Amino acid sequence: MSQPSLIDNFGRPITYLRLAVTDRCNLRCFYCMPEEGIKFLPRKELLSYEEMERLVHVACQAGIRKVRITGGEPFARRDMISFLERLRKIPALEELHITTNGVLTEQYIDKLKEINISSINLSLDTLDPERFLQITRRNELQSVLNTFDKLLAANIPVKINMVVMDGKNTQDIIPMAEMARDNGISIRYIEEMPFNGTGTSKARLLWDHGAILNQLKSAYPDISKVNDPRHSTAYHYQIPGFSGNIGIIAAYTRTFCGSCNRIRVTSQGTLKTCLYDHGALDIKTLLRNGATDQELINAIAGAIGNRHKDGWAAEASRTQKDHHESMSTIGG
Ligand code: SAM
Repeated sequence: MSQPSLIDNFGRPITYLRLAVTDRCNLRCFYCMPEEGIKFLPRKELLSYEEMERLVHVACQAGIRKVRITGGEPFARRDMISFLERLRKIPALEELHITTNGVLTEQYIDKLKEINISSINLSLDTLDPERFLQITRRNELQSVLNTFDKLLAANIPVKINMVVMDGKNTQDIIPMAEMARDNGISIRYIEEMPFNGTGTSKARLLWDHGAILNQLKSAYPDISKVNDPRHSTAYHYQIPGFSGNIGIIAAYTRTFCGSCNRIRVTSQGTLKTCLYDHGALDIKTLLRNGATDQELINAIAGAIGNRHKDGWAAEASRTQKDHHESMSTIGG
């Protein structure tokens, strides 16, 4: 079935779906979720693999070309590889990516290579074991580093995502950049967002993209801006002599919304047309009430046609102003 592409009410084409496959995680990063008392969704509240596969099929009929699997931790859900294999068979799906914390990932890398995964985003906020433990509340740095080494050996494109947090890991900005010197990988620094699952947020973000760039400039005075790929959320930089590149994602200051081409589906099947909105459509109910493909496409297109201009407008529209959500339920 040929369908017009999805275009929002500000003329932005939507081609990229981020799909959270679980809300569970094997780490407890303090900026993402509290250590205890998290109410994980009962299994029946999560979209099943069959439902997610259908959703991706339908989304691709409507114009989605790139899917990122995220969560929660994707590899904390059983049979993830079979699901990825099934997604890989959808002809219109050009790119399939995963964001993972890397703790359980090493054992799946051969399979990921086999299914020709487009790239892996590995979340890693520090190279220091003590700080890793403080930030994630788990002692798993070595497993993540093993995953990293094996991804490089398998020649799978890798980006490392580091959330930059005042008083926690800013001393890691430069050591992390050094990983891009010889490895040809991308290091991306992310502004901390308020989605920590506790409803508390900072009055002001000290380490915004300007501060991160200044820190990089102090070590690499010749760092220079390079062109950003279309729809990129990162500002890209090159350091002379480095084979890889540097990106800074202004996730909190939200300066990239004008070219945003992405939607999200949370693990409980809610469509979000912006990370900061409170949910635009209950896809799970539509799927479970027998909606046809066309009805699903119409509902998704309708939500996209009613999108907020940017993350600030989306946030202002929330009835609940504090951010009790965790990125693990939204799908980071
Ligand atoms: N478990 C996977 C992982 O760790 O990559 C995927 C889910 S995780 C929620 C996706 C990304 O969101 C990670 O890179 C994580 O660091 C980021 N993230 C989570 N909470 C965040 C916050 N409050 N601010 C900025 N980034 C956050």
